[in-house]
Amino acid sequence: MARTNASRILEETTIESGRLEGLAARIETSGDSSSLEVRTPVTDEPIGAIPACTADDVAAAVDRARSAQADWERATVDQRAAILERFGDLVLNHRAELLDVVQLETGKSRQHALEEILDVPLTCSYYAAKGPSILADADRSGAIPLASEATVTYDPVGVVGVISPWNYPLTLAMTDAIPALLAGNAVVCKPDERTPFIALALADLLVAAGLPDGLFQIVTGEGATVGPALIDAVDYVAFTGGTETGRTVAERAGRNLIDCSLELGGKNPMVVLDDADPETAARGAVKGAFTNAGQLCLAPERIYVDDRRYDEFVDAFVGATRRLELGLEFDYGPEVGSLIDGDHLEGVREHVESAVADGASLLSGGRARPDVGPFCYEPTILADVDPDSRVACEETFGPVVSVYPVSGVDEAIERANDSEYGLNASVWTTDRERGRGVAREIDCGTVCVNDPYTVGWAATDAPMGGVGDSGLGRRHGPEGLRRYVDARTIATSRIGPLDAPPGVSPRWFARFMLGLTMVQRRLARWVP
Ligand code: NDP
Repeated sequence: MARTNASRILEETTIESGRLEGLAARIETSGDSSSLEVRTPVTDEPIGAIPACTADDVAAAVDRARSAQADWERATVDQRAAILERFGDLVLNHRAELLDVVQLETGKSRQHALEEILDVPLTCSYYAAKGPSILADADRSGAIPLASEATVTYDPVGVVGVISPWNYPLTLAMTDAIPALLAGNAVVCKPDERTPFIALALADLLVAAGLPDGLFQIVTGEGATVGPALIDAVDYVAFTGGTETGRTVAERAGRNLIDCSLELGGKNPMVVLDDADPETAARGAVKGAFTNAGQLCLAPERIYVDDRRYDEFVDAFVGATRRLELGLEFDYGPEVGSLIDGDHLEGVREHVESAVADGASLLSGGRARPDVGPFCYEPTILADVDPDSRVACEETFGPVVSVYPVSGVDEAIERANDSEYGLNASVWTTDRERGRGVAREIDCGTVCVNDPYTVGWAATDAPMGGVGDSGLGRRHGPEGLRRYVDARTIATSRIGPLDAPPGVSPRWFARFMLGLTMVQRRLARWVP
């Protein structure tokens, strides 16, 4: 590769010369596939290339995964958990290179890259600790008390396809793969074509942790080719991405009669009640709206503030936003990094410009910053936004948020719920009990009180996902593990066939069964 600004940056990182080429070379293809250039948003220059896998390459990867899964399924849950715990350790030990790769691929700030790193060992430890009991055989009531019994076993579905986006390429490649592996499945992961190297680096660490060869495969290339081929070959799909792509994934999974989880977009509301502390809420709004330059599915994009707190909140929010530092250093410091590419920058710019054309006021930001990086955009706060404008209704997925005064809690709830999406929301108040009460009224999969999203995401024991256009299914918690298993019921009779014994007349047996049914109905209310 000719010496470019990107190659100069690479030399200053911990990424060794030839490392990215080495990672790309691990993807097995038939040789018929072309290659795709990978560029860094830090300088908008190429940093490497990956194979554009064909449908046959994908099918072959799933076949390899399926062969490896047969032995993995026979390992105990504790053996599988030990490997995932070691993987969590390795992610922490190799954080310097992983942070550099994430920053290079996404242009995000190092502090937000670190959030991705920390998530993986925590997820490993949670499922390693809780997985064995969640997957243990469960005794259930039999058909007839004492005469029969029932046991439920949880068996891996087989091969899980994980399709992940570019915005959190490390976390979102692994957070769904870890429980899938723990449950005894193989995984074939399709990362976004813009951010393939971090997934490949993680695959290396999984093998170093002791994961058997072939069990975790990566297929790269364009989603429109690789995605459908993957859905046609696997037994379950865990998809994270945009709502429209999610619909096509669901349609294809439905045709194949396989299950899927869909973690999709959001237009997340934040509700600031009349008793909220404006400074605290403003701090939360900055963290929520501008983490990862707003390219976060959980980020608030609509803030409804009780009009008794509106001015104080807006002053504090605008002040804190203007103090944010933009930058693309490969070190802790700047809080706001780059957007992913030029198309995305154009989309963000268009949302803001059309809102302003429709009468919105810019309280902060509103400009691209090519002086900082080719795709950087200022953290932007809008007010007086037309509720029908694109920025009010559609996901921007950038550092852009609108503030709206509301006349009280009822209007705040009504406007928060006025969306097709339902991913994440937050409620701000000094009365946490009141906050939890308001949270119950908001139609979202997660509602955080006095925090924009971290307290919900990092509660690994609690399910996370969306309603409405934000998706189907849940990750995290027992729900995030049970999606990857088939429940099998083994029912045993202690008295032979549950039928009239020889010599008993059908009339007598019918009477007996009616009596038994009435007793069982009574018992059902009292027996736990
Ligand atoms: P996309 O839906 O465009 O892409 C997501 C993934 O799907 C990529 O790997 C992409 O591949 C792949 N893909 C593209 N076409 C298909 C297809 N036909 N079949 C199967 N897979 C396909 O998402 P974005 O790039 O727009 O990602 C951002 C979106 O993700 C936002 O809407 C955001 O809100 C959402 N998101 C949701 C999260 C959640 O937990 N709810 C978390 C993070 C993001 P490729 O790009 O390589 O072509």
